[in-house]
Amino acid sequence: MTTKYDECTWDEIREYTKENRVALIPVGTLEDHGYHLPINTDVIIPKTILEKVTEAMPEKTILLPEVVHGYSPHHMDFPGSTYLRYDQFVEHLLSITSALAHHGFTKMYILNGHGSNESLCTIAQQETNRRNKDVVCMNSFYLTSPESLKLIQQIRKSDYPGGMGHACELETSLMLAIRPDLVKMDKAVKEIDYPKDIGADFYMDWADGSLKYMPWWSEISWSGVQGDPTVASAETGKILLEQAVNEAMKRVNVIQHIERGKRVDRH
Ligand SMILES: [Zn+2]
Repeated sequence: MTTKYDECTWDEIREYTKENRVALIPVGTLEDHGYHLPINTDVIIPKTILEKVTEAMPEKTILLPEVVHGYSPHHMDFPGSTYLRYDQFVEHLLSITSALAHHGFTKMYILNGHGSNESLCTIAQQETNRRNKDVVCMNSFYLTSPESLKLIQQIRKSDYPGGMGHACELETSLMLAIRPDLVKMDKAVKEIDYPKDIGADFYMDWADGSLKYMPWWSEISWSGVQGDPTVASAETGKILLEQAVNEAMKRVNVIQHIERGKRVDRH
């Protein structure tokens, strides 16, 4: 039987709900990624990671279709960007997790590939758990574990901080490993206009500084890039992709084994 949710028959889905499988939900957005990457970069990357996870763990997972539209209103100055309003986006995710819970899935993992989705994915995760007492739903961005962040710092060629913001060395390398046919390296430009750390933990990189700021994207980028895609390589991408898959598999194992606590109303 396939582990792709939308390719199953309904009675296959019914069997899967009895197996404590983790439902994998890739989430991205459509938005500018420089002159060299397609607008669906943030969709392709988490989708590919989770495809590889379900191929490696066919007994433990089921892969939902990717959530294509995310929260990108600040990118609307760039042709091609689409977005759901923040409340629509959260509701959209909740509709998916609620349906899964209704059918009997109790383990869910939302893997996000777009920075501005992150806090909203976390809200959707929290609401899913609050509304469904038997469900364990977790969310994360990819390549965010301490091991992954350490690896990134070891293999990067771009400046830190700043080289790995958006359509950057990291995303471009991953795309070179995943879909080289969609990458126009001759059009890749280095652009680091977002303020670097000016003494207040304020910068953009793969892990941003903790002081947050997001105006219109066109205020901080001309090409759409924040970072240095010119030093990206398929070799770096392959290493990062392997790490992203391993990281996600570890997280799936955690989700599969964790149990809900007992809620107690202490009034
Ligand atoms: Zn991106």
